[in-house]
Amino acid sequence: MLPAAFEYASPGTLDEALALLDQHADDGKVLAGGQSLIPLLKLRLASPAFLVDINRIPDLDVLEERDGALVIGALVRHKTAERSSLLANRYAVLAEAAPQVADPLVRNRGTLAGSLAHADPSGDWGSVMLAVDAEFVLRSRSGSRTVKARDFFSGPFSTLLQPNEILTEIRIPARRGPTGGAYLKLERKVGDFATVGVAIQLQMDDGKVGTAGIALTAVGPQNIKATEAEAALKGQTLNDKVIKEAGQLAAKAAEPRADLRGSEAYKRNVVRIFTERGLKRAYERARGGG
Ligand SMILES: Cc1cc2nc3c(=O)[nH]c(=O)nc-3n(C[C@H](O)[C@H](O)[C@H](O)COP(=O)(O)OP(=O)(O)OC[C@H]3O[C@@H](n4cnc5c(N)ncnc54)[C@H](O)[C@@H]3O)c2cc1C
Repeated sequence: MLPAAFEYASPGTLDEALALLDQHADDGKVLAGGQSLIPLLKLRLASPAFLVDINRIPDLDVLEERDGALVIGALVRHKTAERSSLLANRYAVLAEAAPQVADPLVRNRGTLAGSLAHADPSGDWGSVMLAVDAEFVLRSRSGSRTVKARDFFSGPFSTLLQPNEILTEIRIPARRGPTGGAYLKLERKVGDFATVGVAIQLQMDDGKVGTAGIALTAVGPQNIKATEAEAALKGQTLNDKVIKEAGQLAAKAAEPRADLRGSEAYKRNVVRIFTERGLKRAYERARGGG
């Protein structure tokens, strides 16, 4: 199908883009990589009258450590994350998730921020951001606000983003000390959305778990932060018993639905096993510096 007619602007500055979104708060949409939005337009599941293409805006493709945070701009694409030596060396959970998102075509154009704004409960980045306790900078014409990832998602395909706002920056606490992460994903075939995904982030403190981040993909109406499992790990020595208990608590936090990809019990079991494996992998990385 062809999309319904729309007007299109490709502003050269963020201020211009924000002004356009303000004018079109009722019928406007941001266009980033277009990997979710264009299919929706073609299927006529979305019919915005005005598209604000942000691809020409400078400086939105920043990927760097700055002021105690890893900063990921709105135009950082999956492929940039996949190829980043900064992520490979210091942010394992992001580096491991990136090549598992979609296929090379989608990764070439799609952005991390677009994926988060789209808020598909099967999206991989939502879980990664919950695990690393990211925050998102949302800019509008009247200013900016910072929202924690855990508060950002409000349901399937819904977030706190207002129609006149742009998610300009993802901010992740910069890596300090022994830290490790992992992203495990079960998919039916390469390039598919997750049947189940689990993101893990560990910060070790004097041989014990300082903080743990665990989040789940595709097993609920939105990406789920497994807070009970996280809390159970805090202050613990990471032995088999503790890991097993965390796996069980993460499985309990999942809200899977049976579908062609598997039964509810099967998916819950995958969450449990992936949490255990992910914790072991993240712990190894924290100890080895990976
Ligand atoms: C075949 C296929 C397979 C896929 N497989 C996976 C997968 O395995 N895992 C996965 O996680 N994802 C997968 N995806 C989804 C893909 O990762 C996302 O579609 C894409 O990354 C969204 O980013 P984008 O830049 O293309 O956003 P767009 O399509 O341009 O926009 C998506 C939505 O976000 C809004 N938006 C975009 N950027 C911003 C911003 N900065 N501020 C505010 N709003 C914004 C748009 O208005 C729109 O509503 C797949 C997609 C396809 C087509």
